[in-house]
Amino acid sequence: MDHDYPRSRASQARQAMTTLSLTDLPLAALGEILGSRTRAHAVRRWLYSCIPVPTYLPDRIDGVAAAGWERLRAATALPQWRLLGRQLAVDGTVKYSMDVAGATIETVFIPAAARSTVCVSSQSGCSRSCGFCATATVGFHRQLKAGEMVLQYLVAQSEAPAHVPARNVVFMGMGEPMDNLDEVMSAVDRLLEPPLPRVGAGHITVSTAGVLPGIKRFLREGRGHLALSLNATTDAAREALMPHNRNWPIGDLLEALREDQRRGSGRYYFVEYVLWEGVNDSEADARRLVTLLDGLDAHVNLIPHNPFEGNPLRPPPPSVVSRFQAVVHSGGVRCLIRQPRGQEIAAACGQLALRRA
Ligand code: SAH
Repeated sequence: MDHDYPRSRASQARQAMTTLSLTDLPLAALGEILGSRTRAHAVRRWLYSCIPVPTYLPDRIDGVAAAGWERLRAATALPQWRLLGRQLAVDGTVKYSMDVAGATIETVFIPAAARSTVCVSSQSGCSRSCGFCATATVGFHRQLKAGEMVLQYLVAQSEAPAHVPARNVVFMGMGEPMDNLDEVMSAVDRLLEPPLPRVGAGHITVSTAGVLPGIKRFLREGRGHLALSLNATTDAAREALMPHNRNWPIGDLLEALREDQRRGSGRYYFVEYVLWEGVNDSEADARRLVTLLDGLDAHVNLIPHNPFEGNPLRPPPPSVVSRFQAVVHSGGVRCLIRQPRGQEIAAACGQLALRRA
């Protein structure tokens, strides 16, 4: 018996460790436990309409007979979670800090005209050491379970204003998805499932720092689009900022994408390119980027660096960013500038570092 905690917390924690996660339970398995597909739908409807999102399963819910619900409560649990903080930026971006079974994570809701985006963390901390990313400074805590990734979407969508529902999911929060690929692919499968949450396959993007074995597997087995954080146009420059480039150089990464394109997967390839003043922002870089992407149907997203304390890197002036975009664009490659969202609450790309509200 654990005397340090109220009994319900301790037993909840034990249950969460030993049972299936309700947020990662496939609809078919849910139906089996409940004895009918209709009840499985009722549970999903309940889960996706609860405000606030529950932290434990109640004694009863509407639309599901007591016996079936009891079986479900015996076999599954919600991920153990609690909200640590919620920060709102002037542009409507919301950053959530959550504790999931002792690990701290951050999730970002980014509102947009019709379809808002939820930026999900795949690890608490990160297993990679990119020299420009605030998450790298906190180190790696632990892998997140698929149910904990789905939970992040669940929480963010539950608070999304009705006119801007959360219909896009990007695995671009804390962590390297390819270092936790089984769980990420499972989370993607759950997010796609009808009738709920039914995020469209075309509205999920998994972003990677370039972990080649994971990329290859994801392209063969996973669903959703792929974003590759390229960030440099030579291996020497990339290695200086992303040490794992030593194992998986630029040419091999782009070849994996080309191979997928030849297979006709119909996926989008987003190439993320963070711009740093005096590092990778020259016109020669822009031209090299065009050459590298030759024959690949890619969309380039330019992300002016989001600064954070203790890091010397700086974004280029806007005129340099525009010029870079123009050169890439005139080389025949689609290229957008991604405006930082929620920068003042440290919710923008690369700023997630477990700072408390
Ligand atoms: N590990 C994954 C996902 C997390 S990083 C990946 O590397 O893709 C998500 C995106 O934020 C990546 O494109 C990364 O290059 C970018 N990023 C990281 N730090 C940044 C910073 N300080 N400013 C702007 N973008 C940053």
